[in-house]
Amino acid sequence: MKILPQIKEIHEEMTEWRHRIHMHPETAFEEYQTSDFVAEKLESFGIEVHRGLAKTGVVGTLKSGSGNRAIGLRADMDALDLQELNEFAHRSQVDGKMHGCGHDGHTVMLLGAAKYLSETKNFDGTVQFIFQPAEENVAGGRVMISDGLFEKFPVDSVYGMHNMPGFNVGEFAVRKGPMMASADFFEARITGVGGHGAFPHLTVDPVTVACDVVSGWQKIVSRNVDPLKSAVITVGEIHGGHTTNVIPEDVVIRGTTRAFDLEVQNMIERRMAQVLDGICAAHGATAEFEYDRRYAPTINTPDETDEAIAAAQELVGESCVDTDVVPVMGAEDFSWMLQERPGCYIMIANGAGEGSCHVHNPNYDFNDTILPLGASYWARLTERVLPKEAA
Ligand SMILES: [Zn+2]
Ligand SMILES: [Zn+2]
Repeated sequence: MKILPQIKEIHEEMTEWRHRIHMHPETAFEEYQTSDFVAEKLESFGIEVHRGLAKTGVVGTLKSGSGNRAIGLRADMDALDLQELNEFAHRSQVDGKMHGCGHDGHTVMLLGAAKYLSETKNFDGTVQFIFQPAEENVAGGRVMISDGLFEKFPVDSVYGMHNMPGFNVGEFAVRKGPMMASADFFEARITGVGGHGAFPHLTVDPVTVACDVVSGWQKIVSRNVDPLKSAVITVGEIHGGHTTNVIPEDVVIRGTTRAFDLEVQNMIERRMAQVLDGICAAHGATAEFEYDRRYAPTINTPDETDEAIAAAQELVGESCVDTDVVPVMGAEDFSWMLQERPGCYIMIANGAGEGSCHVHNPNYDFNDTILPLGASYWARLTERVLPKEAA
């Protein structure tokens, strides 16, 4: 593994930063201490700092040479609402909150690269270091964009990275095209006519209608989606009634859908509404439907993915970069940045085997041994995409 020597030198320092952030986890749009820390570090490296985008977002701007090209490197800073079960010294000091997805490590890898790039300046153009809040659940990246991220800090391409447990330290995984799915969220309210459980003929039972709706929606996946494409419709909540012998007035159904392309996503939204309305009409019930497109599919563009692959291969060799990883139905709000600019989202291995557990597990921890590798990836990617000789 080829780690940049100047980054190897700061491994211990980066580990201290990571532990400090891990001990003080903050969730969606409340990353006050974390963003203070990030801003303070960037300033100490001589990088121009801009704050306040999406409330707690931080953008660092670093220029070198006279080139007009610009690259965006993005890390997420938020933690999870999860009680940490680890007992090591750097465990979370905040009850019910934890860096259980490794965003503490993502933040530090990008800070490490920022330090290196500010000292070496072996590139020509502008690097925008984007530290976003609220990746989990509420798509803080999307808010940064609506707050004018790319108008205020223009870039030609944008790159993201996430750690992934389950494969060996020193490996990367990526692919061109869809890497992660869209994640939309829906709520349907079915209203009938309530009444006595022994006199169903005098009611319009929203419970039986809801059962038909849930089954009907599953047929969208099996009958309307092209069998060579993929989709998920999951109902995660059904709420209705409060006692055994009363037919309730209404039932609320909530859930999530996943897809890899806009056509499938559009079709799912349209067909879910049609199936809901049709089944309700058939039984004399009425329906309200809300559908929220919260995360777009994460789609890597070909040229930028080639750059990401080349940067990773330089560090770990060809055999340690999976260039055609199987996409997953999870979602990621970096997708919104990829909707605006070409770019690539890559996975860096957090390690496999004993002691390694998946993200969002209360025993998870970001693997400090990969901090210099991730920082070196950011650094080499920047030097490749903004080469000095292009000036
Ligand atoms: Zn997560
Ligand atoms: Zn995450």
